[in-house]
Amino acid sequence: MSLTLAILKPDAVGSSKAGKILAHLEGAGFRVRALKLLSLSKEQAGAFYAVHRERGFYAELVEFMTSGPVIPMVLEADDAVAKLRGAIGATDPAEAAPGTVRKLFAESKGRNAIHASDSDENAKGEIAFFFSEYDRIAVR
Ligand code: UDP
Ligand code: MG
Repeated sequence: MSLTLAILKPDAVGSSKAGKILAHLEGAGFRVRALKLLSLSKEQAGAFYAVHRERGFYAELVEFMTSGPVIPMVLEADDAVAKLRGAIGATDPAEAAPGTVRKLFAESKGRNAIHASDSDENAKGEIAFFFSEYDRIAVR
């Protein structure tokens, strides 16, 4: 078993889809190991997405991610990173496969309901970004 980080984004939380998405992920075989609701500051959102800071969508992405509460969570499964990337679908919901979280719940390429780590190394860093050593006692 391995761990990955998901974030339910402000579009999903604001339109009360968090419970449905969580149920979908649990139904797909993920186990929740840590979870909280919080609002990101501009500095926090900018730092989380720093890899994209040269991209044209960066300012809009930071604006969106600070527009309302988000729900970061640690999910566990066999090959969790690849499994979650598969379960969420393509970045643009118009291109996402049927039955994926983004096809089912996302509004647009920017407002796309959920973030998922893209490698084990990034998952480790992203889990540490949101969850302290104390929180991670539950994660092991
Ligand atoms: N994004 C956007 N426009 C784009 C590409 C990305 O608004 O053309 C946003 C979108 O919210 C996406 C996030 O930036 O989820 C991070 O982009 P990435 O390419 O890492 O996509 P992801 O890994 O989330 O599928
Ligand atoms: Mg990404």
